[in-house]
Amino acid sequence: MDSAIFLASLFLFGLNITLLVLFFNSIIIAFSQKDSAWWKHVLNFSNYTLMIVLAYYSFIFTGGEIGSGSLTTLSPYIVSLTTYLLTNILLVAVFFLLSESNRIVPILKGMFKDTITTYVCTLFLSMILVILIHAQSFFGLFLFSCITLLLAQTFRQNFKLYKAVSHKANIDELTGLNNHGYFKELLEIELLVAKDTEAALCIAILDIDDFKKYNDLHGHIQGDVLLNEFGALLKTECEKKKFSVARYGGEEFSIIMPNTLLEDAFDFIDDLRRLTNDTPLDGVEVLPYGCLSFSAGIAEWEKKMYNSAELLNKADQALYKAKNLGKNHVRYYNQHSEYPTIQQSTAT
Ligand code: GH3
Ligand code: MG
Ligand code: MG
Repeated sequence: MDSAIFLASLFLFGLNITLLVLFFNSIIIAFSQKDSAWWKHVLNFSNYTLMIVLAYYSFIFTGGEIGSGSLTTLSPYIVSLTTYLLTNILLVAVFFLLSESNRIVPILKGMFKDTITTYVCTLFLSMILVILIHAQSFFGLFLFSCITLLLAQTFRQNFKLYKAVSHKANIDELTGLNNHGYFKELLEIELLVAKDTEAALCIAILDIDDFKKYNDLHGHIQGDVLLNEFGALLKTECEKKKFSVARYGGEEFSIIMPNTLLEDAFDFIDDLRRLTNDTPLDGVEVLPYGCLSFSAGIAEWEKKMYNSAELLNKADQALYKAKNLGKNHVRYYNQHSEYPTIQQSTAT
């Protein structure tokens, strides 16, 4: 909506007045969104300034006449808006390059796809505003501002609702971790990133040992409490490494480890296993190791793999071996052997 007003003001009143509008708009936003860091406001202001200046010159160079209000030749408006959009995308790209994000390609692809409709709407809105202001000057601007404010409020409410619903759809209620469906979605995204950037990617599947025994002795309610506490432990440790963890189902959990080599993934999961063993939790002394334990299988993404199912299957095979070797073990799938031999950690 802001962009529609900036562009309409640009087409009708020129560069100086539009920059003034931007300046006052930025001051109002800075005061109304005090929670955001000051540098974000400055960055936003600088980005908009650059986008407006470049849009202005592309409008002029393609024959656009400031203040004419004539929409008979559309090309200057379209060129101007395209420049505005491309500058926006370029600035986002520079931001991600500076913050060394290796997700830049998928982010930009997604951004282009998501914003193209918004930008076409912005162009139409700015044209409507040009017509309104030209025909009815201040009353036109007043009318447009009222509609804009009402629409913005509706969009905000819809967006809040969308966020609440999608959060509910992605989260496992008992543990608060990502659920199975969302894990699969995230895995597909991370695989795309790994393919694009050729970065390493590992996944792990963890299965709590003898959980049925714990349930049988303490009841399902207490079992739920243990699942919740274990989930919290996984979340804390994974957040430190920026890994995503999900409840895969029942007493099984999955972890996606982007930018992580197999050896490092193994060290992380094995440290997690030791930490789990050492964490005092109610009633775990009845379990065979006298503490909470899990078995885990790890697999590393390789170019020759067909899809995510193959990767999951390999992690599952490694988990199966870990269970067979006496539980409370971590194993990774070894791709160099004809008959997969699995590395072993020492149980505490
Ligand atoms: P193993 O070491 O071979 O993995 O043995 P296990 O007992 O952990 O595995 P098994 O597959 O025999 O049993 C899994 C148990 O997990 C049985 C089921 O009641 C329990 N379980 C699954 N989901 C939940 C849940 O949401 N809450 C509770 N309390 N228990 C659950
Ligand atoms: Mg299981
Ligand atoms: Mg189990």
